[in-house]
Amino acid sequence: MTVKACGAHSADQPLVAMTIDRRAPGPQDVQIEIAYCGVCHSDLHTVRSEWPGTLYPCVPGHEIVGTVSAVGNDVAGFKVGDVVGVGCLVGSCGQCSACGDGLEQYCERGMVGTYNGPTNDAPGHTLGGYSQRIVVDQGFVLHIRHPQQQLAAVAPLLCAGITTYSPLRHWNVGPGKKVGIVGIGGLGHMGIKLARAMGAQVVAFTTTESKRDEAHRLGADAVVVSRDAGQMKAQQGSFDFILDTVAAPHVLDAFTALLKRDGTLCLVGAPATPHPSPSVMGLIFGRKAIAGSLIGGIAETQEMLDFCAEHGIVADIEMIRAQDIDAAYERMLHSDVKYRFVIDCATM
Ligand code: NAP
Ligand code: ZN
Repeated sequence: MTVKACGAHSADQPLVAMTIDRRAPGPQDVQIEIAYCGVCHSDLHTVRSEWPGTLYPCVPGHEIVGTVSAVGNDVAGFKVGDVVGVGCLVGSCGQCSACGDGLEQYCERGMVGTYNGPTNDAPGHTLGGYSQRIVVDQGFVLHIRHPQQQLAAVAPLLCAGITTYSPLRHWNVGPGKKVGIVGIGGLGHMGIKLARAMGAQVVAFTTTESKRDEAHRLGADAVVVSRDAGQMKAQQGSFDFILDTVAAPHVLDAFTALLKRDGTLCLVGAPATPHPSPSVMGLIFGRKAIAGSLIGGIAETQEMLDFCAEHGIVADIEMIRAQDIDAAYERMLHSDVKYRFVIDCATM
């Protein structure tokens, strides 16, 4: 079955309309008519080959919300008409210790990404949510329990939501903890909302002074302009945990200096070129850690979606048409997103 999609034929060309094949649903498959797909900075990194290994044609998109239009014979738990989501992964080995622990994103044989991942389907790599339809193994489909009118704003939870929720949970963010969120973009604005809902004291770090009021509105107790040395110094040694979502290289020492003893700076931003090497002394004195975290497993993604439905949490979005994606990428590169672009896939 061919469907309309939007993707790139090479790193240096804009996205264009194209048609792609979707397999007929097998026994384990759920076929989904995509209503909305969020635009993640990872889409830009991939489509422009800022990270190694992009296969073309490249159809990005891993923040997918839509309606089930067919299910395979062995599918339990999803039926035609259900509102569902698909995030960053559509497959894993199911056998290794990571999969056994519900951490499919760390599959030891390699998880299958929603785009640019290995598949037997044409053209040999997965094609993502900038399209009208997707067919996904039932083990990687999520239930959406938010009200119908919020569905576009739910889409970003499938990556930006889980990528911030998972480390906040792993490092036990909650009441009595002081948490920093660095970079107020798609991931960062979700990080503020989630850390706040978990009961932590939240400080937002931004390079954009004009986001100060917005960051407070999103739930930050305090806002620090990270380019202002005085404001940074005032926060020294006070954080239990800092989540860094920045998509560009920057000096990490500026943030490890803000950690308490035994505090952790967790990196989720994945710049195309390295950060300057952090100071070892800055870590030794205070037993501080720099860590990383990759999206989240399927069970935890469902937990996050249900947590957000319960707490009334969605992303702040700007809806765009498929033909506006390149313009949205340019604004994303200028930190000018409020705070996630979402494609109305009816415009495909
Ligand atoms: P985004 O919407 O573009 O937000 C990134 C924010 O970082 C910007 O809004 C800006 O916030 C700040 N920033 C940008 N350039 C900066 C610079 N040169 N110096 C300091 N701050 C800067 O991107 P996103 O979609 O949230 O994604 C962020 C990163 O996370 C990307 O690298 C993406 O690939 C990665 N990611 C990782 C995972 C994972 O599993 N680990 C999952 C999804 C995405 P301010 O204006 O507030 O400074
Ligand atoms: Zn993403």
